[in-house]
Amino acid sequence: MMQLRHFTFNPFQENTYVLYDETKEAIIIDPGCYEKEEQGLLNGFIEKEGLKVKYLINTHCHIDHVLGNAFVKRKYQVPLWMHKNEVQVLKAVSAYASNYGFPGYEETEGDKFIDEKDSITFGNTTLEIFFVPGHAPGHLIFYHPETSTCIAGDTLFQGSIGRTDLPGGDHATLLRAIKDQMFVLPDEVKVYPGHGPATTIGDEKIHNPFVGKNARF
Ligand SMILES: [Zn+2]
Ligand SMILES: [Zn+2]
Repeated sequence: MMQLRHFTFNPFQENTYVLYDETKEAIIIDPGCYEKEEQGLLNGFIEKEGLKVKYLINTHCHIDHVLGNAFVKRKYQVPLWMHKNEVQVLKAVSAYASNYGFPGYEETEGDKFIDEKDSITFGNTTLEIFFVPGHAPGHLIFYHPETSTCIAGDTLFQGSIGRTDLPGGDHATLLRAIKDQMFVLPDEVKVYPGHGPATTIGDEKIHNPFVGKNARF
């Protein structure tokens, strides 16, 4: 059965996820590890569990989610999978990384473009892919029905939603995508977001102030 391990990295407090199963095959989603110490924490876990990393995957390519891309690609010799609408978003990071305090950021490029028609398989595990734009133009989320797990990136948070004032963002698009793509999932599905604690679809359907039943915004 699929297992999940999460780390919180970099000053943006970004959640990095490692998914793996009994075969020891694994994927890494949104590695935010910039400092050597953070990279050591991630690699320490991979080595301790004896995991074989198969892919590096970005939900979207804002700086906080890609700071460890180069490290993961090099360390595990794995391809980067992402949506093609994020190519420009990823390219832009090099231009502003220094200003944000990350002079050591190394550029990476996508190796394979994926969308909602694809799925991701590692070991005995297959993830479904949903396209949830609005926070970023090519934002993907990943769903594992057997464990009721959703890796949500910066779409839906506990009590909030992703910001939409960044280039390529659009508020109405995000609201619609969350309702159409995520709120159709079962209530018990656990949502693991790019920042902050996990929540569930059912909780956010009721309590979320942006997209919930009694939305205030
Ligand atoms: Zn983001
Ligand atoms: Zn983020």
